[in-house]
Amino acid sequence: MTQSYDLLVLGSGPAGSAAAITAAQAGLSVALIDKSAFPRDKLCGGGLTGRSVRYMAEVFGMTPDTALFLPSTQFRLTFAGRVIGHEAEAPVLQMTMRRDFDAALHVRAQSSGVTVFAPVKLSQIDTDAPSVTLSDGRCLRGRILIGADGANSAVARALYGRAFDPAEIGFGLEVELDRELTEDNTTEIDLGAAHWGYGWVFPKNGSITLGVGGVHAKNPDMKAHFRNYLAQHAPQFDAEKLRCKGAFLPFGAYRKTPGRGPVLLAGDAAGLVDPITGEGIAWAMKSGQFAGQAAAEALQSGTPPMAAYMARLGYIHREMAAARRIRALIYATPVRNYFPGAVERNPSMTRSYLRLLAGDLDYADLGHRVLWRIARRLGGTMLRRPA
Ligand SMILES: Cc1cc2nc3c(=O)[nH]c(=O)nc-3n(C[C@H](O)[C@H](O)[C@H](O)COP(=O)(O)OP(=O)(O)OC[C@H]3O[C@@H](n4cnc5c(N)ncnc54)[C@H](O)[C@@H]3O)c2cc1C
Repeated sequence: MTQSYDLLVLGSGPAGSAAAITAAQAGLSVALIDKSAFPRDKLCGGGLTGRSVRYMAEVFGMTPDTALFLPSTQFRLTFAGRVIGHEAEAPVLQMTMRRDFDAALHVRAQSSGVTVFAPVKLSQIDTDAPSVTLSDGRCLRGRILIGADGANSAVARALYGRAFDPAEIGFGLEVELDRELTEDNTTEIDLGAAHWGYGWVFPKNGSITLGVGGVHAKNPDMKAHFRNYLAQHAPQFDAEKLRCKGAFLPFGAYRKTPGRGPVLLAGDAAGLVDPITGEGIAWAMKSGQFAGQAAAEALQSGTPPMAAYMARLGYIHREMAAARRIRALIYATPVRNYFPGAVERNPSMTRSYLRLLAGDLDYADLGHRVLWRIARRLGGTMLRRPA
């Protein structure tokens, strides 16, 4: 049995729900397909930056109410346990559990008139038709397919043979700790907890999330980094006995052309995770919205959707590319050695990091500052500050 829609969206995380609601609001008939029933768990720090909160409001009409979010306004930057920056009144970070957050987005998408198929198992994806066949034999056909099915995207595998480049992918390990351990609502980022990555302590309403993550190839023993970071914060726990979980994240390995023909990729499936901060929720919602808009525009004009999508993605891709260049610089050994001390001596660097997280500063701005500091450090006082 075949059912036809204007648009098929595979995956109902932040990217898929954003694509589905945007396309439905533009008048398209949309099938939203997920392997899980909602609510479902998703391994993630659950930290929403100011940018994420803006996109959540724009796409889903939602504000960060206290039932779903814990606002954190105290921030601590550390390096291997040493405090190098502290802000008592940082731009607010909204902390949530992805199980509840994703379910709320999914319900919003569903109530916009989208037809939901979840939980379902796929037996085939045809990226030319495009269509997906479910394990019960039903075939869902669309004029356009959006793959928003995460880091290990089945749609990306159908297009390219593999979902990501193992040399580029990031990996994170996390555990939820008892909220009663502390009443402190400070968010912590530790830039020395892993190579080409960091450790984090995120306070939540019902728990505290502690994790480490970074480029997988640079951290062959991420578990050891996790054990060290856990021992710094909660030495009473044995890492081996905790329910610690791991997941991949496409840490800045974005696809220059995300999709082909009638297929677009969004969110993690398109590799849209910030290579320095690991932020992915904002870019998932924004790219999902762009993919939904591009689908509507393409069906109206009778043109392939990729051109309309690429025209919208430009800013995100420029940010990802700039962040990758900065990352290669700040993690290079000579700079990495001087970086913690430099941050400690210059509180403005912690504030810049926070403004970046808040979305008030972008990598194009930050790139010039970072380059200037590094050049001054390496070149001594001979250099003059650029006008
Ligand atoms: C350890 C860790 C910590 C992180 N912390 C943060 C953070 O604090 N803040 C932040 O902004 N980002 C964080 N991220 C990144 C963030 O989790 C992702 O970037 C974000 O979830 C991407 O959203 P998405 O919709 O693209 O994919 P996902 O959220 O992964 O959603 C994909 C959906 O597709 C479905 N799916 C997958 N395969 C199939 C299939 N074959 N058939 C049907 N459905 C399928 C899944 O069930 C899921 O619902 C973190 C990531 C990790 C791994």
